[in-house]
Amino acid sequence: MPSYVNVDKCDGCRGLDRTACQYICPNDLMILDHETQKAYNQEPEQCWECYNCVKICPQQAIEVRAYQDFAPLGANVVPMRGTDSIMWTIKFRNGNMKRFKFPIRTTPEGSIDPYAGKPEPDFSTIKGPGFFNGGRKEE
Ligand code: SF4
Ligand code: SF4
Repeated sequence: MPSYVNVDKCDGCRGLDRTACQYICPNDLMILDHETQKAYNQEPEQCWECYNCVKICPQQAIEVRAYQDFAPLGANVVPMRGTDSIMWTIKFRNGNMKRFKFPIRTTPEGSIDPYAGKPEPDFSTIKGPGFFNGGRKEE
């Protein structure tokens, strides 16, 4: 189920040029209505349900209706970001709550080198099957 914005909580990221949800969405789905200063998901059917916007929103204004294999119908899932972890709160429709805490990365943004320790690509094999960092049988 796609993300949606709780307009009572959204403050439009207080007039920033680009809101946090706009910055983080990998599919550029979040839009800020400049008249109301509220964000919304402009193409819900394109939403990947990746929860990035849910996690980054400083007002906890975004929710995704969770799949029932991890939260039953009527429950909501709210993250609270800390410096080294995210606390997820599942609120069940009968009022019960469960909390789960997971660590997050602590390395500075932009410091990860995705190619570290990988071999240089060999362009002579570019038309062959396989991946550049996987074992490859020469034909
Ligand atoms: S990140 Fe949250 S508060 Fe900021 S515009 Fe998006 S929904 Fe609103
Ligand atoms: S859940 Fe992911 S894909 Fe969907 S609007 Fe949020 S950031 Fe974009």
